[in-house]
Amino acid sequence: MSSQPRGAGATHSETGMPTVTVIGGGQLARMTHQSAIALGQCLRVLAATDSDPAAQVSGDVVLGSHDDLDALRRAAEGSVAFTFDHEGVPLDHLRVLESEGVAVRPPSTALRYAQDKLDMRNRLSELGLPVPDFADLSGDVSQARERLVEFGARNRWQIVLKAVRGGYDGRGVWLIDDQSQALEVFDAQSGGDTVLMAEQKVQMRRELSAMIARSPHGQGAAWPVVETVQRNGQCAVVLAPAPDLDPDLAQQAQQMALRLADELGVVGAMAMELFETDDGKLVVNELAMRPHNSGHWTMDGAVTSQFEQHLRAVLDYPLGATAARADVVVMANVLGAEQTPTMSVDERMHHLFARMPDARIHMYGKGERPDRKVGHVNIVGRPGEDVATVRERAERAAHWMSTAVWTDGWDPHSADG
Ligand code: ADP
Repeated sequence: MSSQPRGAGATHSETGMPTVTVIGGGQLARMTHQSAIALGQCLRVLAATDSDPAAQVSGDVVLGSHDDLDALRRAAEGSVAFTFDHEGVPLDHLRVLESEGVAVRPPSTALRYAQDKLDMRNRLSELGLPVPDFADLSGDVSQARERLVEFGARNRWQIVLKAVRGGYDGRGVWLIDDQSQALEVFDAQSGGDTVLMAEQKVQMRRELSAMIARSPHGQGAAWPVVETVQRNGQCAVVLAPAPDLDPDLAQQAQQMALRLADELGVVGAMAMELFETDDGKLVVNELAMRPHNSGHWTMDGAVTSQFEQHLRAVLDYPLGATAARADVVVMANVLGAEQTPTMSVDERMHHLFARMPDARIHMYGKGERPDRKVGHVNIVGRPGEDVATVRERAERAAHWMSTAVWTDGWDPHSADG
């Protein structure tokens, strides 16, 4: 491991294969590297430390921070495409890199909408896409407070406050029920440098995600629309495809995501998180311009995984087929337990494999902390298996990996065979 990139040129000297740089050494970069290997490439990773999930596995690691322009330049040197495992890179730095000829994918002109929820809401409504009613709470604090009171009253205080930038996994999102709660959050946050926005709380049946990919060429490809199940504001389970989703609504979601990616000039994988409202309509919640938790099922459940597709897109290769490999595929996240089990992860995995040989497990090389995403399990449904059964198996496997407890009380020592 060195602080200098090892790759000398745009292509690998031995194989002639292109080098792609990814900014951020988290699990998304780690799993992108897994796909890069199959394509005969080695992903270059800009990581904060050599123990980051992706830095553990790539042979081409640049150590440095994503907000240090010099580190970004070092990471970009000699690579063909420059992409991200998170949305935190300052736009100003990206603009500098673009002016120096770096192929930033997605480009800064698109990425800004994934970095800033207010910009995103404004742009989506300009484009006529369905978004919840929202209010800008930036600028002068007392005027913003008045706008909040007016917006809240108009929506009977069924609103959501959101940090405009930097939130993830529900951090920076406050579901509000009354005025005093709203003002408490607003006053606490406006003391620091967090800029807030408010939006209508959507009455929904469920949450969906439409994942697509787009290449610089303009080719687009959409995976089946999935249902995402959240716990504590964090994605816990993904059901692919979304059970009993009206085919017209599914198509509408895919078309909205593809059209938006085209309008914004997105390159790479993109997730459009959606709400299916109580009256059966779609509302756009969020955009992520990178591989996304709602696409992890594709690693085992689709012809082309989101990670390979992301690489294909940023390299402007033709995109791969997105069909599901089974009627039902379920992904369940492995989260760090409240109390880390005394049984090691290694031993838990041993038991899981003994009991559930078709569980596809993906661990991220991360230490366990409460609620931290440390891995996921995919279960590809058997022919004829229904969603509830596949979901139960996926959640049972993930819960076991988190807690060393079987949800159905199974005990290997009393089990037959
Ligand atoms: P993050 O960037 O942390 O993922 P999101 O904007 O996706 O934040 O919000 C996290 C969760 O909060 C969503 O998955 C949803 O469950 C809930 N939520 C967000 N916005 C709304 C809304 N307008 N109405 C109802 N629930 C919402």
